[in-house]
Amino acid sequence: MWKITPLNLGVLTVKKSGLIFGNKSNESLKVPCIGWLLTNNTGKKVIIDTGPSDDEVWGTKYHNPLKKHYDQRLEVALLKHGINADEINLCILTHLHWDHAYGALKLPNAKIIVQREELRYAVDPFPPDWKHYEKNFEEKSPFFLKFFHQIETVNGDCEIEKGMKLIHLPGHSPGSQGILVTTNQGEFLIVGDLINIMESWECNPKLPPGIFYSLEDCYSSFNKIDKLGVTILSGHDWRAFNML
Ligand SMILES: [Zn+2]
Repeated sequence: MWKITPLNLGVLTVKKSGLIFGNKSNESLKVPCIGWLLTNNTGKKVIIDTGPSDDEVWGTKYHNPLKKHYDQRLEVALLKHGINADEINLCILTHLHWDHAYGALKLPNAKIIVQREELRYAVDPFPPDWKHYEKNFEEKSPFFLKFFHQIETVNGDCEIEKGMKLIHLPGHSPGSQGILVTTNQGEFLIVGDLINIMESWECNPKLPPGIFYSLEDCYSSFNKIDKLGVTILSGHDWRAFNML
């Protein structure tokens, strides 16, 4: 059995239309970038998603207005739970967008698991996705190449640890994946940005995220999630902090 602890790794201000496809309001929301600390009674520690860059100026300039306090740095957030970042030896990324994957740079001893399809696409994304993977940024290499040697890929659905399954959920990006986790509160699915905030899942019909690679894949993945019938933990919704 795993215990899931959400970590607030920074707050982005995002147009609602960027979170929910077709949203017409001009409203902007402040949303958390959530990393998930998974621990079990054998002492294993796993991190799922690692938050954005610590550099508020950089994040705000190239992405969305970012607020990130000192205690929202991954290594500081982990220390609050008595864990040193270099103790983490397994990290799973739902996808390689900067606000989920940048913090993996802080985990020097971790094997970093992504879907093969995600890594393949991240290396050469279509232009509208360049900024999400930080390709062609000031002639620098994308950030994820700095931990390229730690990356191991998986292809589709698989069990990665007892009580922890990876579920390929393409749509937001080609290789987005969910992590199905068994806890003593039941089964939870950490879905990344396929569902940014629960409002998009709870409306009828369900709506894809504002940023997507394939609508067809989004809806196929929605069907896959529906069939699982488990509790969803979305990538940028505050309610996770009250649920767990
Ligand atoms: Zn994303």
